[in-house]
Amino acid sequence: MKYDVVIGLEVHVQIKTKSKMFCSCPASFGEEPNTSICPVCTGYPGVMPVPNYEAIKKTIIAGIMCGCEIPELSKFDRKSYFYPDMPKNYQITQYDLPFCQRGEIHIFGKGFSGNMMEEKYIHMTRIHLEEDVAKSVHFSTFSGIDYNRAGVPLMEIVSEPEISSADEAYAYLTTLKQIMQYAGISDCDMEKGQMRCDVNISLKPSGQIEFGTKIELKNLNSFRAIHRAINSEIERQQDILLSGGKLQQETRGWNDDRMTSYLMRVKESAHDYRYFPEPDLTPICFSKEDIENLKKELPELPEIKAKRFVSDYGLTEYDAAVITSEKNLADYFDDGAKKTSAPKILANWVISELLRELSNANISINEVKISSDDMAKLVNMISINTISGKIGKTVFAEMFETGKAPEEIVREKGLVQVSDEPEIESFVAKSIQENPMQVEQYKTGKTAVIQYFVGQVMKLSKGKANPQAVQKMLKSKLDA
Ligand code: ADP
Ligand code: ZN
Ligand code: MG
Repeated sequence: MKYDVVIGLEVHVQIKTKSKMFCSCPASFGEEPNTSICPVCTGYPGVMPVPNYEAIKKTIIAGIMCGCEIPELSKFDRKSYFYPDMPKNYQITQYDLPFCQRGEIHIFGKGFSGNMMEEKYIHMTRIHLEEDVAKSVHFSTFSGIDYNRAGVPLMEIVSEPEISSADEAYAYLTTLKQIMQYAGISDCDMEKGQMRCDVNISLKPSGQIEFGTKIELKNLNSFRAIHRAINSEIERQQDILLSGGKLQQETRGWNDDRMTSYLMRVKESAHDYRYFPEPDLTPICFSKEDIENLKKELPELPEIKAKRFVSDYGLTEYDAAVITSEKNLADYFDDGAKKTSAPKILANWVISELLRELSNANISINEVKISSDDMAKLVNMISINTISGKIGKTVFAEMFETGKAPEEIVREKGLVQVSDEPEIESFVAKSIQENPMQVEQYKTGKTAVIQYFVGQVMKLSKGKANPQAVQKMLKSKLDA
């Protein structure tokens, strides 16, 4: 029996704003517990919420960037529930009139596993805005609660059940994250809880229209964990179904260290959240003109930027995708590319050297000491042969370490490439004199051995000789 995999994602994204959703407390991360709080976000009786316009605007922008429809009328609703993370005993959220409806995310290219994916649009059901709840922390004998997070603006982005593999889920999430970062809506740092994702998965016999029983996976703390958890859950469900078992609707937690999931709870009888319109907030209307004005402020979408990098700078689609994966990296490259006649070489340096060093140093592109100007200068020096690519790596390493300008490093260390004939000639002569055996090989037709001589001359010149000039001179001497 073959099964089709059906996945729907519920993604929560914290919106980057100065203050919380309905009060003026700072919406900052990492403060001492319970220091960014006030009577509103801790649910004192009688307080009134005041909506944060910036958060609403960013939600609408997120929606427009994902191709959503923005209804003219939206409202907030109360979702009643009883749990310490929500002292009002209700959460202000949106029920039947969310800010954004429908929408889509375009996924294509290679998946996380390296396999090629079918190009596809994953539809979104809705994006609504709500207030985040407090964070519970569980200790061995007691639990604590931190209200700093309570009331932080939070978007919920719900996908249709149209995702059919771990790779597609990964692509959907990375694309979503990319869009949020591009639009300055959120940094989507999962470690800081700025992006959180619940995964709903079910299997159905291949071709069957009716969906199977869905399992919800929680506690997913990284994209990699999500990818692993989905594959493990597909396998678990398949094993049960193939052995004639039945699945029950349940919520499972993922343990990434053990690479297994565990039962959290079996789906209780349908919740009665007793939704009703929030009486302390008026409905919100947007005119067509409001939406048009917001559209004018939109940043270039990552996909469009990647296309521009291919057409304007001659990058391969793959390189353009790597560079646009993060907005700050794309901006860095874009700035540098305007200052060099060799943008393709710049892309190679950014992808192979810069990204590797950033990852080794565990820092982001924002923290790098090399300015995009200096990166472009380095590439220019290499492309006009002032220094060789090999010396370029030494210079790059020092730039990365100290933030010094490349011409300064080259000057200080005397690294300018030698194309100067007499100097190279002496190295060439020396290499021929010292290696009679290789000379013999060359004379008997093994001309590939010339690379050995090039290597020797490069060594003698401490990497400063121009390899093309060296090769040319060697050839004329050896053929003589
Ligand atoms: P619930 O009522 O349990 O919250 P919803 O219908 O609101 O369920 O859907 C929540 C998420 O689960 C959505 O992202 C949706 O696409 C997904 N989903 C719904 N049914 C299934 C299913 N049978 N298999 C996989 N995902 C599903
Ligand atoms: Zn507050
Ligand atoms: Mg639901």
